[in-house]
Amino acid sequence: MERRKFLQNAGIAGILAAGAAPAVHAQGAPAIRWRLASSFPKALDTIFGSAEVFSKIVSEATGGKFTISVHAGGELMPAFGVVDGVQQGTVECAHTAPYYFFGKDDTFAIDCAIPFGLNSRQMTAWMYEGNGMKLMREFYKNYNIVNFPMGNTGAQMGGWYRKEIKSVADIKGLKMRIGGFGGKVLERIGGVPQNIPGGEIYQALEKGTIDATEWVGPYDDLKLGFYKVAKNYVYPAWWEGGPELELYVNTKAYEALSTENKAIVECAAALAHTDMQAKYDAKNPKALKELVAGGVKLQRMPKDVMEAAFKASQDLYSDLSAKNPQWKKIYTDFADFRREQHQWFRFAEAGFDDFMQQQKL
Ligand code: CA
Repeated sequence: MERRKFLQNAGIAGILAAGAAPAVHAQGAPAIRWRLASSFPKALDTIFGSAEVFSKIVSEATGGKFTISVHAGGELMPAFGVVDGVQQGTVECAHTAPYYFFGKDDTFAIDCAIPFGLNSRQMTAWMYEGNGMKLMREFYKNYNIVNFPMGNTGAQMGGWYRKEIKSVADIKGLKMRIGGFGGKVLERIGGVPQNIPGGEIYQALEKGTIDATEWVGPYDDLKLGFYKVAKNYVYPAWWEGGPELELYVNTKAYEALSTENKAIVECAAALAHTDMQAKYDAKNPKALKELVAGGVKLQRMPKDVMEAAFKASQDLYSDLSAKNPQWKKIYTDFADFRREQHQWFRFAEAGFDDFMQQQKL
């Protein structure tokens, strides 16, 4: 036994000494180069930055053998062209907010945010531990996409309004840029929704093409400068209680990866997922203070707007369930999960937050 071990070791030592040993990583591990098309502008280090975090981890975990170049919205394809890009294999992957694509199928929105949906924690729970991932993966098969949760902004602000919103009557005729699917409900309560990519909103608001806009929250909104043209900052966005961003990977490109690289993609996406929420939570408080110090008027969304929108959203979901079997299947599971989550969150989480927010800290 001892002798055999010795001989084996001597053998290896001999090969190494002779310089004949193949470099362990040089064979069977060709370089992989992917391109990622983001739907977001580079200036947004939070939402665009998470794709860079993802790419950095993949590169470092593979010793630079698997690299992913990250491209801003519009660079390789239009910001809203990324589903087609991944589906057709123009790029291997994309980072986006799925609700932009409700025009293809309303079901996309459930993988991001629907009005009065889940908050950030609950959405992650549905995806990782509920049926969310399984159901969405089935759905995305139709688009040659394998999806991974990759970022959440947390509950968003309800946007910037040139004129104060006092009641649901002020929503009538209001031309507002609103993220994807929320526009469907805004429309039902009298608003006129506009779908405009992040990089083009300021100009539209400044020119008066729109009366109001929403984007994300204080940190990004401050950067985009909306406060310069609209002073009324309303909360919360009833259409985005916890919108999740998604990494889309072309199925063929994904299947061509080794088991090892698949695991690296999964881990890197999960890390970028946590990283984005942490960045928003850490950066929003200071930005909000800055906005308020600069004369921005903070206002809670009037209750009758919330109630009208809630009712309109439930009607919309019933209509969609009646005509779209994919929506019905996934929404039913989502809605069951939401009911249970709110039955639980109201106790410990809400009780703790409610008390803490009233203390002088
Ligand atoms: Ca938004």
